[in-house]
Amino acid sequence: MKFEREEFLRDVGRILAADSATDFEHADSKELYLAVSKAVMAEAYPDLVASRERAGKRCGYFSAEFLMGRAIFNNLLNLGILGEVKEALSSVHRDLNLFEEVEDAALGNGGLGRLAACYLESAASMGIPLDGYGIRYRYGLFRQTFENGYQKEEGDDWLKWGDPWSVRCEKDAKIVRFADMDVLAVPYDMPIFGYKNGVVNTLRLWSSEPVRAFDFDMFDKMKGENQAVANFNATKICDVLYPNDNTMVGKLLRLRQQYFLVSASLQDVVTKYKAAGGDLKKLYEARCFQLNDTHPVLAIPELLRILRAEGLSFEEAFTVASKCFNFTNHTIMAEALERWDALALSDLLPTVYEQILACQNRLQSEGDEGGKYFIVREGTVHMANLAIYVSSKVNGVAEIHTGILKRDTFRDWYARYPEKFVNVTNGITPRRWLLLNNPGLAALIDGKIGTAWHTDLARLSALKPHLSEILPAFKAIKAHNKALLSDYIFKKEGVEVPPDFVFDVQVKRLHEYKRQLLNALSVLAIYFGIKDGSIRDLPPVLFLFGAKAAPGYYLAKAIIKFINEIAALVNGDEEVKDRLRVVFVQNYDVSYAEKIVCAADISEQISMAGMEASGTGNMKFMLNGTVTLGTLDGANVEICEEAGRENNYIFGATVEEVAAVKRGYDPAKIVAENPVLKRAVDTMTDGTFPDEKGMLKKLHASLFEGYEPDRYLVLYDFASYLDTKLSLLRAYGTDEYFLQCLENLSSAGKFSADRAVREYADKIWHL
Ligand SMILES: *Cc1c(COP(=O)(O)O)cnc(C)c1O
Repeated sequence: MKFEREEFLRDVGRILAADSATDFEHADSKELYLAVSKAVMAEAYPDLVASRERAGKRCGYFSAEFLMGRAIFNNLLNLGILGEVKEALSSVHRDLNLFEEVEDAALGNGGLGRLAACYLESAASMGIPLDGYGIRYRYGLFRQTFENGYQKEEGDDWLKWGDPWSVRCEKDAKIVRFADMDVLAVPYDMPIFGYKNGVVNTLRLWSSEPVRAFDFDMFDKMKGENQAVANFNATKICDVLYPNDNTMVGKLLRLRQQYFLVSASLQDVVTKYKAAGGDLKKLYEARCFQLNDTHPVLAIPELLRILRAEGLSFEEAFTVASKCFNFTNHTIMAEALERWDALALSDLLPTVYEQILACQNRLQSEGDEGGKYFIVREGTVHMANLAIYVSSKVNGVAEIHTGILKRDTFRDWYARYPEKFVNVTNGITPRRWLLLNNPGLAALIDGKIGTAWHTDLARLSALKPHLSEILPAFKAIKAHNKALLSDYIFKKEGVEVPPDFVFDVQVKRLHEYKRQLLNALSVLAIYFGIKDGSIRDLPPVLFLFGAKAAPGYYLAKAIIKFINEIAALVNGDEEVKDRLRVVFVQNYDVSYAEKIVCAADISEQISMAGMEASGTGNMKFMLNGTVTLGTLDGANVEICEEAGRENNYIFGATVEEVAAVKRGYDPAKIVAENPVLKRAVDTMTDGTFPDEKGMLKKLHASLFEGYEPDRYLVLYDFASYLDTKLSLLRAYGTDEYFLQCLENLSSAGKFSADRAVREYADKIWHL
């Protein structure tokens, strides 16, 4: 975007005057933020229209979650005016960094939602016509605080600072019909700016509103009191994002959200396609849809319903749908695979359910020896099966994950449709996750190999001959980032963290399979080892945690409490204060991640092998020059392939070993044979920590009792984990260690979301 300082300041000044009756000198940060954002939006408008009107096939990315983070810095960066705006504002004595107070748009839980955000940005940057479709939740993912070590949740009022990056498009509103009410879906369009290429794609987020009172048809049907009830329910649909990551909650309101999203989006697509003179029987030539996990899979029967209503036969409609839809699976965990009660679904969406049954009948009519293939069975609708049956392509998100889908989770489906299954390993956008969050490192790379890597990350390999040369500068940049993070943590958490400690980091959603508990037990073992003199040769180290637990996930909350108690014990112990620190940061989100990722020395990616489909956190750390301490799980496997296993710290049971170990597993025996582990585990029950609510006792019980004690092999993997962690900490600070960091950075090319969206565009969308 061209930028004229005087013109820009005049525009912003006018908006300040018109909207807030103020000026540069007196505007508060919010007024200034709104005015700057609006001025940029107005400037970008022509590019938005041009991108939208471009001829050719487009893909719709349907996702219940978009974890966008803060828009302003990224938008200015991609428009190529970040430095210019900063300077323009300083010329009127205002600081762009004031906007660090702006709330994140946290319309997602974790990896899945952040992936959707990275893909939109990368597609725009690669000139790929991809439009996001989602829900404009009034409240995003809850804000987390700790009280006495326990997680507390507060509503996330992300619109507190307004929403200057969205445009409400009332003209495109649609009515979404449920059996018991009609709801108005109003779209808000967020521009997705490609990186310095003039492309502007769109993220369209639907907001639910009551069908207007002046709609007399509706009013007549509903009458007085009923109308009030309908109004109340209508707005409620988009009230709040369900805070569950990798688990499904069978709540009717969630089902309403899912249908609301896909019905509004498909009506939108079909209306525009028809208005442009398109033949619905050939919809697939102009449009396709990527279903981000099973959450938007109702799009399949909804498109069938719409096409049937437009006069297509079921077979004609099915052919169109099967060429339009593609499905991404994100997990193999049974508790996350969505299943809906058939009665509830048919009560709420009778005409949609008819189409699901028609799919079921079509599947059945094709023959099925052994009853392996079904969509509806025993009164339950299996959304993944529906998605696989109708979709053109089904993809896993890392090589190992796609392999498990083929061999295990969807074995029978793979046998029937081998050509449907493909892998697209996840990626992250290098703009937000290096250029923006780590400008020092980005400038160092620019100075060595130029700037082509900004949109072609594989070029980072050109750094390889220069690793020793850039090592001193790399160290200095890392030290600087650590000092910044240390200040920030002191401000936010009130804990002092010496910046010369090793920063050993595990940040991601709290889940048993991610094994924050394994990390916690190792921290205790190291603490006791330092106290009793058995561990003497470690550099001083900070163990940094960040994670939100789903509010109803008891054991996840118990793990947070446990780690906070460990932090209190360690940080309160004068004897170890120059050796150890433990911090659990509150409200880990995208903006916090940006500050943490560039300052980490060790990236903990320690899920039980086979459980983490891909991970993207692992890629962010790698790209910022951090070694991985991890298992052979998800994309860690490919990280090792790219950067060399010898440059990372790998431990623990492999997928094959996990299966073997689980036969006849005896966690008590493992603990009995390892006194270091026993000492750490015993703290959950021996009074080391206050446990007034019995949480730690239940956490302890989850390792030894119940149907599947220690389901994620925390105890089994402990010994190899601690060994590997100690050897990594001992290697820290040597030139060899820093070269390993740089080997990772210079090998991170594959993990660009640019590469990933290109693969989707080539192999799946055919754009
Ligand atoms: C990248 C990211 C995630 C995903 O992290 P994983 O380690 O892959 O689970 C979750 N939350 C936020 C805020 C992120 O930025």
